[in-house]
Amino acid sequence: MLTQAPKGTQDMLPKDAYRWQEIARTMREACALAGYQEIRTPIFEHTELFQRGVGDTTDVVQKEMYTFEDKGNRSITLKPEGTAGAVRAFIESHMYAETLPVKLYYSACPCFRYEKPQSGRLRQFHQNGVEVFGAKDASVDAEIIKLAMDILHANGIDGLRLNINSIGCPNCRAAYLEKLKAYLEPKLPTLCKTCQERFERNPMRILDCKEDAPKLTDAPAMLDNLCEDCAGHFEKLKGYLGAMGLDYAIDPRIVRGLDYYTKTVFEIITDAPDGGELTVCGGGRYDGLVEELGGPATPGIGWGMGIERMIMVQDMRGSAPAAPAPLDVLVVTLGDDARMEGVKLVSELRAKGIKADLDHAARSMKAQFKYANKLGVKKVIVIAGDELEKGVVKLRDMEASSEAEVARGEIVNLLIRN
Ligand code: ATP
Ligand code: MG
Repeated sequence: MLTQAPKGTQDMLPKDAYRWQEIARTMREACALAGYQEIRTPIFEHTELFQRGVGDTTDVVQKEMYTFEDKGNRSITLKPEGTAGAVRAFIESHMYAETLPVKLYYSACPCFRYEKPQSGRLRQFHQNGVEVFGAKDASVDAEIIKLAMDILHANGIDGLRLNINSIGCPNCRAAYLEKLKAYLEPKLPTLCKTCQERFERNPMRILDCKEDAPKLTDAPAMLDNLCEDCAGHFEKLKGYLGAMGLDYAIDPRIVRGLDYYTKTVFEIITDAPDGGELTVCGGGRYDGLVEELGGPATPGIGWGMGIERMIMVQDMRGSAPAAPAPLDVLVVTLGDDARMEGVKLVSELRAKGIKADLDHAARSMKAQFKYANKLGVKKVIVIAGDELEKGVVKLRDMEASSEAEVARGEIVNLLIRN
């Protein structure tokens, strides 16, 4: 128990750190190129924010949140996703009064959901995300989709399927929901219990149910019932995606199913080893959300990208990036005086950008060479009594097994050149 991480959590171990760093780097660079700025919001928020901002009728709020009372009797929830906190911060810090659009991103944001742990489904996972406020043209929908694709591409993840849909707006959705309910009503007894509960408050989510969706293939689609504004927006989105050379499919079954989610929704998916599908990135437009949470009416759009799922896809395809080169140099010393000189030399090397270390475990000379081999260093610098007196060091090339004497004053420059 004591030495076992809680169910559904994972350590990011040193052997994988470079992969996370690479994902963070590509995220940062792609976002900078497109004019996005970083935001970090707290790991916990008032529970009410998620009830309103994610939605009372969603699985996330109904079943998956880590909610507790703090010592001041406030109901607190660990963030299950990144959008609600970003919207709260946008409103609280009056970003709506700045030049719009405000383009934000977050990197490796920890998210918590009480889900049944299984492959690709954790209780603490991490999301990259972007949110754009104050841009209503479909060009920004296309921009964030392209950005997601570019980030995946930069991480060796290509050939994922991009599925898009439109779930309309309050203007066209009401009439559609009536049509949908008329279609669903006679089928209700055959649907699962959760869907029966969804029927009144959130019937669109029924189309998203893994169990029931196959029975509902002839359901009316929101896409066929869009108002002029929403239909025009979707046409523009398709045009922009085409102009950027992005392939996509239209999937009328992607829903977000909440009043304030509007127009564009999309997913970037791949096949999972278990025969199912794995969603790496999902997002959509939420033109009603800022207002819903107490800010001025401001259009918004964003996506979330699961980092553990990116890593899973890299592993599935053997496209993980190569591990960075190990240390450049190990300094091997014999005796206290040599060690003192070694400490000094290592700090000089590091100051010049050369990855250097020395033995900190008081190993014998022989064991230090073994250590050098284990670390895979290509060069070893030897400092012992004789060398110290002569003002030189020995530079050993581990691959060529050759050795040369170099003046102590020259060694750093020599290594910089090589
Ligand atoms: P799913 O359909 O897989 O449950 P979702 O619709 O709940 O996903 P979103 O809320 O859109 O997911 O979250 C965005 C991304 O975060 C997902 O596409 C996925 O990559 C990742 N994600 C979501 N839940 C988990 C989880 N429990 N463990 C790991 N990654 C997750
Ligand atoms: Mg989920």
